[in-house]
Amino acid sequence: MPVLRLAARTHPGWVREINEDAYLAEALPGDDGWLVAVADGMGGHRAGEVASWLALRTLRERVVAGAALADAVLAANEEVFRRQAGDPGLSGMGTTLTAAVIGRGGAVELCHVGDSRAYLLRQGYLARLTRDHSLVEEFVRSGALTEQEARRHPQRNLLTRAIGTDASVPVDETTVQLEPSDLLLLCSDGLSEALPDAMLADLLAAGGPGDVVARVDALIQAALAAGGGDNITAVLAWWDGEAP
Ligand code: MG
Repeated sequence: MPVLRLAARTHPGWVREINEDAYLAEALPGDDGWLVAVADGMGGHRAGEVASWLALRTLRERVVAGAALADAVLAANEEVFRRQAGDPGLSGMGTTLTAAVIGRGGAVELCHVGDSRAYLLRQGYLARLTRDHSLVEEFVRSGALTEQEARRHPQRNLLTRAIGTDASVPVDETTVQLEPSDLLLLCSDGLSEALPDAMLADLLAAGGPGDVVARVDALIQAALAAGGGDNITAVLAWWDGEAP
């Protein structure tokens, strides 16, 4: 039997009064694998909270009903867009969405919109699986900003793509095959902005094999210690492969 260990935490941080981040981390019904996702909502007056919750609810419904992950992400976009278009109190809301379905054999299907992230730690090396849909990421790619400058840029939270702000959205899709002892991390920018990749790699590599709960707690604590200026969310999956 393949074994996947899952742990997830979210924390509002020290500055924000509400938590507009949300996550999914669960086994799919019928031994169909697992669904993990992180959404970081935006919009005034709790609208961000509505956006991230609505997106994840729609995503989950569609995936459980058998939809392909990318189609479920598009359905989430339509649902958030429809709700904000019909309610002035929710106007302008949107959310990031980084989601993965992990099959029974360890095949990961990943879909992504916005600036939440997915990382893979394999044998001590950390790889980023997603590209931020943000203005500063475009500046970094064009060479106008360094990674370090981007981290402090006043417009670093400006997204070039989000779920729910337009009638349709391009979705990035990636696939990865997990190997034994791989760690898959999904997180909101409250974690990735607080912790440089080298520190993330160290925190993920520390601790006993498969102890995802201790690792996820360590990530949240480190982001809080670094200031906790934003909501912080981390979902961590450890792939055991075929257990004997
Ligand atoms: Mg955030």
